[in-house]
Amino acid sequence: MEQMDLLTYCKKLPKVELHAHLNGSLSDGTVLQLLEAKEKELGSTDSLSSFKMTISKGPERCLRECFRVFEALHSLTDSQEAIRKITKNVIQEFAEDGVRYLELRTTPKNIPGKITKKEYVDAVLETMINEMKTCRIMVRLLVSVDRGRGVGDAWSTLSLAKQYLDHDVFKGLLVGIDVSGNPNKGNLIDYIPILKEAKKCGFKLAVHLAEVKSCVEETDAVLENGLVDRIGHGTYLLKNNGYGIKYQKKILKNFIPIEICMSSNLKTQSVRSFEKHHFGVWSGLKHPLAICTDDKGVYCTTLTNEYYICAKNFNLSEQDLHELCLYAVEAAFLPSSEKDILRQMVKEELSKLMGKLFVERRTTYMIQ
Ligand SMILES: [Zn+2]
Repeated sequence: MEQMDLLTYCKKLPKVELHAHLNGSLSDGTVLQLLEAKEKELGSTDSLSSFKMTISKGPERCLRECFRVFEALHSLTDSQEAIRKITKNVIQEFAEDGVRYLELRTTPKNIPGKITKKEYVDAVLETMINEMKTCRIMVRLLVSVDRGRGVGDAWSTLSLAKQYLDHDVFKGLLVGIDVSGNPNKGNLIDYIPILKEAKKCGFKLAVHLAEVKSCVEETDAVLENGLVDRIGHGTYLLKNNGYGIKYQKKILKNFIPIEICMSSNLKTQSVRSFEKHHFGVWSGLKHPLAICTDDKGVYCTTLTNEYYICAKNFNLSEQDLHELCLYAVEAAFLPSSEKDILRQMVKEELSKLMGKLFVERRTTYMIQ
């Protein structure tokens, strides 16, 4: 039987990506295309040239440089044309990486005189439909509420999202709301009425939760109100003395899946090493987890790479990897009829891979 090394095997896995921010997922190639388009529009400037230099450093660039460039990206993606281009490229890259189902998330932007929030979302959804016709991938959208922008902005994003629930063309594509942004800004407690309203409308909720130490009150409030369908990161859930066990019980009891983004957590130093990542605790408890990239462009990673890192550091078997793919299917924000189709497809592909992971075995020599 044809055998594969671990990295090839991870690439072949039919994967499901549930935590991918559109703007943070841009490949270096896409960023360079955007910078060049901007240069054509404005002429060459010092800052554009310095961003090009930073991007061309590839994985060698430091995290501070990455954030600077990706912050600047917001000013490069200020037209429907740019939004279509980045959405197309990101979907194609995930499809090439063996991702069969992708939930993209993005904060709709309003730049006066350039683009409205509605035009932004329309451009993303139109491109998703087009790409699903040609790439072997299903794509759905979560709109992001940025906790740093205040509740007024969040209410306006939610009322926009509602317009797509019964939309003639886009119905069924916008499946949930993501809560993200700088965890040191704003307080999730202020967003609870918005999250309650979103749930009432039928949206699923993915919340970046417990990303910093000082999060006890808001984590309590979100969990107690049953306002999270998937937890993003949850890096400090178990590290809070006295609260860790309480949170763990609640999350286990309610089967709330956790989105695991290993490279992102290590690079932002919210975990000290891959081996010490909380993946180990939750997977030991057989809790549903979804391996994700977060921002594949910023952290120079792929979903294949994230599976590979998990497998290497936690000594995962072929069976464990298959289980992770299927956990991610169950955690997807799809209605059950569509989830059945996805599960069937993933299971068929996994069964063809069974037994093909090359496992090095130590030879033992018998002393005669
Ligand atoms: Zn995130």
